Amino acid sequence: MSNTSSSSPPPLVPPVACVCNEQVGAGPFDPRRLRQDFPILALTVHGDKTLAYLDNAATTQKPASVVCVLCEYYQACNANVHRSIHYLGEQATQRFEEARKKIQRFIGAPSERSVIFTRGTTESINVVASAWGRRSLKPGDEIVLTGMEHHSNLVPWQLVAKETGARLKFVPVLDDGTLDLEAYERLLKGRVRMAAFTHISNVLGTVNPVKRMTALAHAAGALVLVDAAQSVPNRPVSVTDLDCDFLAFSGHKMLGPTGIGVLYGRLEVLERMEPFLTGGEMISRVTLEDSTWADLPQKFEAGTPHVSGAIGLGVAVDYLQRVGMETIRDYDERLARYAIGRLEQIPGVRIFGRAPERSGAVSFEVEGVHPHDLAQFIDRDGIAIRAGHLCAQPLMKRLGVPAVSRASVYFYNLEEELDRLAQSILKAKEFFRHGS
Ligand code: PLP
Repeated sequence: MSNTSSSSPPPLVPPVACVCNEQVGAGPFDPRRLRQDFPILALTVHGDKTLAYLDNAATTQKPASVVCVLCEYYQACNANVHRSIHYLGEQATQRFEEARKKIQRFIGAPSERSVIFTRGTTESINVVASAWGRRSLKPGDEIVLTGMEHHSNLVPWQLVAKETGARLKFVPVLDDGTLDLEAYERLLKGRVRMAAFTHISNVLGTVNPVKRMTALAHAAGALVLVDAAQSVPNRPVSVTDLDCDFLAFSGHKMLGPTGIGVLYGRLEVLERMEPFLTGGEMISRVTLEDSTWADLPQKFEAGTPHVSGAIGLGVAVDYLQRVGMETIRDYDERLARYAIGRLEQIPGVRIFGRAPERSGAVSFEVEGVHPHDLAQFIDRDGIAIRAGHLCAQPLMKRLGVPAVSRASVYFYNLEEELDRLAQSILKAKEFFRHGS
């Protein structure tokens, strides 16, 4: 019997007083003040260079409250969840389940039973591709993806398509970095069982019209999975509003710890699905020959979960809600415009992604400088950007480049950091032109 079902759970012990003294609270949005909550942002690197962290689409930094709760959890609360009927076991379980409820409210899910903890977006999508896809897809069935997917929302479907005989179809990416929605509607006319697409492209910054795309897929009789790795951290996202069947995202891209993420699933669909991983914690009854499954969400949470990670993610959600998701979105869009404006002034810079609605992941190339050389050069100025194929090799092919550079912002970044980026790119251009 699960100890969460007890009728009067013990009161939650308040977390040990945090020594981090965070600044967040009342008052107008002030990124300079919020930065003080992120000790890592005060680092100097390569000697005396103040860190300008512009790699937030890869992972965000963590506020002190998240760092502290991990420490506090292991010092004052650590126990296995849903199993141990002792004081610490009940505390850990309650805080773990409390985190689930916070996430449920954060994404507007109707029930906490539809919130499954995973290791991140990648695992969440694999759960759906394996647990739903392997059992539901038949030869000739179709899965619609787009040409801008992260490998995480591509490779699992390739595998399941090979195994089941289903066919993959792709919505083309137009020159401005938006999706060809007319083509999407045409693609939905086949035997489409699943449409899986990213909400925001990690390369182009494009914000896709996922609500409309979901409605069209549903009208065609398909289920919908939204890869929200780049959207849940940056704007209000409600699964009720989107009406999607699955939503996948990662804690580490939204101030939370690594190794924890979420799969939201529509209850009726999750209930019909068989588990992905099996073993302890996800069963109801086991004999030597056979087993039955636990109720949701435990059916999809085999083994000991990342308890501290989930609690840390809950604290990250608290932080984001105090800042405000609308505020975060507006600032993200403002910084994206500012970054593009600064980069456009540099001769020989080409920006990828000109969607009217875009977020703060800005990919570009600098004529005559390989993205890896650029990232390395810029790093010596204390500026962290990403370079490479950004886990989107098919999209690189569509853009006609092997790799790009990407600056990606979060609400604690400042315009002056983007000024530094622009200056450093100018220096890099000079350096590589003269080769010294
Ligand atoms: N999908 C998108 C759009 C991403 O940007 C990423 C990570 O960059 C992922 C999926 C994979 O996320 P994770 O590595 O946290 O599983």
